[in-house]
Amino acid sequence: MICPVCKYAMIVVEYRNIELDYCHNCKGAWFDSGELDLLLKSQGLEEPKAFFDDIFNSQEAASSEKKRKCPICGRKMKKTAIDGQPEILIDTCRDKHGLWFDGGEVAQLIKRLAGEHPTKHDSRGPVISFLEEVFGAPQ
Ligand SMILES: [Zn+2]
Ligand SMILES: [Zn+2]
Repeated sequence: MICPVCKYAMIVVEYRNIELDYCHNCKGAWFDSGELDLLLKSQGLEEPKAFFDDIFNSQEAASSEKKRKCPICGRKMKKTAIDGQPEILIDTCRDKHGLWFDGGEVAQLIKRLAGEHPTKHDSRGPVISFLEEVFGAPQ
């Protein structure tokens, strides 16, 4: 798969049987919807669908950031804001192929949620702890 930001070939990182595509050049990461679904289910989340609905149905965020193209279908992705300050914008495919995190965004997300103890009902919890284990906690 080709990185939507810098066009480098991404590598597949496998961890706990979940695969994600990672770009060594810009440190961005692509989460395929199918893999995300597997991840949520493997964490015992009863309603993975709620996670997708939250993310994929959210309003497009106003942003001056360049639009990324989905590495699967090539269509421009939607900017989706994750609450908090500073706002973190991730890119989501309108056809629900997956989510794109820019290089710094994974670290920002981990940092924001470090110290919070996500409950079973917080669907972001398993995703964050997975990313933390794969990418390591930020300094
Ligand atoms: Zn890249
Ligand atoms: Zn797509």
